[in-house]
Amino acid sequence: MSITGGDVVDLGRGLYAWLPPKRGWGLANCGLLVSPRSALWIDTPYDPLLAGQFLVESQKRLPDGAGIDRVIVTHANGDHFWGAGVLPDAEIIVTREAREHIHYDPTPQQQHALVTGSDQSTPLGAYLSRHFGAFDWSATDVVRPTTYFTGELELTLGEYAVQVSSLPPAHTGGDLIVHLPAQRAVFSGDVIFSSTPQQPGDHPVHWAGPLSNVIDACERVLATGAEVIVPGHGPVLDPAGVREHMGYLAYVRERAHALHAAGVPATEAARRVIAEDRYPSLGLPERLVVTIGSEYRHLDGSELPGVLQAMAEVAAVAQEPGTERTGGQA
Ligand SMILES: [Zn+2]
Repeated sequence: MSITGGDVVDLGRGLYAWLPPKRGWGLANCGLLVSPRSALWIDTPYDPLLAGQFLVESQKRLPDGAGIDRVIVTHANGDHFWGAGVLPDAEIIVTREAREHIHYDPTPQQQHALVTGSDQSTPLGAYLSRHFGAFDWSATDVVRPTTYFTGELELTLGEYAVQVSSLPPAHTGGDLIVHLPAQRAVFSGDVIFSSTPQQPGDHPVHWAGPLSNVIDACERVLATGAEVIVPGHGPVLDPAGVREHMGYLAYVRERAHALHAAGVPATEAARRVIAEDRYPSLGLPERLVVTIGSEYRHLDGSELPGVLQAMAEVAAVAQEPGTERTGGQA
């Protein structure tokens, strides 16, 4: 089974958002900005098949002779940049801090082996197969960024300004946001996971934190004055939608701090917040294990666990009856 489809939304003045066909792990939004002579992507889909589909949709919107020369990567999770192999000559732009996260995550081929080769009788094996088994990285090489920057990066594409800002650790270490002033738009990457009543999304998963930095990043998105916000996952938002998401983040932060103060261990704290079921329309509530674990690390000064250890805990909590009852999985 593979995933196909996706919507291209015209945001005006040469800007498009590609939204994948459903929610779930690894299905991220991407951007296309087109000028008369060239174009750029903001993020790529997760695997070559989906990236090829986005490329076909992009090419339909390019003037004759124009190519996609640059990819701005909002952060170093594979679901935002492993598709870059379909643009072998493009410049790939990341923050300097993102380099470290590239080494934290498995390579595409390691991940493919894990997903296809893991023991289905274990919670982790079953979880990886269920949530990642539709992707194919068997022939995906490691993507090597070509341009690293710190702080702010000002680009132009034709007549359009492209303002890229790196962020303190939030979703990962090395996140960035892309502000397109002429289009009054921001691509926020995974500092925002959106949800609307019409299009419910998933619980965010934050690997770095603290959540106060994620909330500050949302403030920074709002401070641009943008009217259109394309999150890393979920439907396109207006500023009010960003404010609403900040309410979610403040709630999780408050619960994590209260449970930590009460001496409740991190995974148990995640179970309790899942059981509160404050956001019943959101899928993948087990991701609170990672997000609350990240918040606890800032309170305890403890080390980031390996990604497989983190995912094994996520998978174990996902199969507990209280979690399965909660949230939806599209
Ligand atoms: Zn993502």
